[in-house]
Amino acid sequence: MNSEPEQIWVGVRLRPLNEAEKRSCDSSNWHVTSETSLKQCEQVSQTPGSLKIYNFDRVFSPDTNSRTVYNDAAERIVISGMQGINGTIFAYGQTSSGKTHTMKSIVSLGTKSVFEHIRNTPSRDFLLHIAAIEIYNEDCRDLLKNNGPSLRLLDDPERGTVAEGLTEEPVRSLEHFLQLVAEVENRRQVGSHTLNKTSSRSHQIIRITIESRPASTAEGEADGSGPLVSHLNFVDLAGSERYSETGASGQRLKEGSHINQSLLALGKVIRVLTEGKSGAAHVPYRDSKLTRILQHSLGGNARTAIVCTISPAIEHLHQSKKTLGFASAAQ
Ligand code: ADP
Ligand code: MG
Repeated sequence: MNSEPEQIWVGVRLRPLNEAEKRSCDSSNWHVTSETSLKQCEQVSQTPGSLKIYNFDRVFSPDTNSRTVYNDAAERIVISGMQGINGTIFAYGQTSSGKTHTMKSIVSLGTKSVFEHIRNTPSRDFLLHIAAIEIYNEDCRDLLKNNGPSLRLLDDPERGTVAEGLTEEPVRSLEHFLQLVAEVENRRQVGSHTLNKTSSRSHQIIRITIESRPASTAEGEADGSGPLVSHLNFVDLAGSERYSETGASGQRLKEGSHINQSLLALGKVIRVLTEGKSGAAHVPYRDSKLTRILQHSLGGNARTAIVCTISPAIEHLHQSKKTLGFASAAQ
């Protein structure tokens, strides 16, 4: 297997203006200039002519459908996940920019690919499990349980960081999987209402564990590789607005609403991974729950994609620029 660390794939998705934004006569602030670039529109810039062009692996315009986003951002990671390689797909951006919208469709199309791959691979037997974790203020909860206790993270010499007592539900079918995902979604929503916390400040990880071994049935052709286990993580991150504000000024550290430790740590880990070509650099995985949980699915041989979502509205211009700054640094 290739031991060169994989580059992180970085895409940007610009959502359409919503109805309220259209009513306020807002027009898009961003112009998608090619399949891989965008820039701010001239008429809203104070310094026309000097507009920066941002380049990424892919830029999705507002009319891009979810299938295209999935195919470009996630498909290869899902397929390599079926072949024993860990992978993580993130949605990063400010609240209301389209993270959940994007991640939901990636999860459902990804699962369809997983089951298709299983059908097309009779030479191996597969076993799938799903787990779902919410991280809110560095507190981890099991989203496959109602009101489950806070999860402790333990270091297992063989398996790395594990969340003690986390539900690992065996998945029987695509329908079963989608039903579990809908329950997870619901639990995150209900939790945010009843506990008076906003889901925009929590991270959600949906993790599929894929185990496979050469088929035991007579018709299965002999398969070269032995048993394989891998994780695929689908991560709907907390809104980046707090991260970027505190990251920029550090002023609000003492405010009751403290910074999102996990988002901050993720930014650092990604920076080290993208800068540290030698592989010798210390990667600060241990600085947060999110990066601890994802440690073995980030960097090394793992495959990572980040879809950064931005809003076209003028009122979101400042945050959109911050998001593009994060996206630029990640690639
Ligand atoms: P976030 O999770 O980043 O807070 P959401 O995914 O909830 O944002 O999106 C905010 C609203 O915008 C939702 O009503 C969502 O359906 C809509 N939306 C987001 N992205 C798109 C898109 N690409 N196309 C159409 N509607 C979108
Ligand atoms: Mg959301």
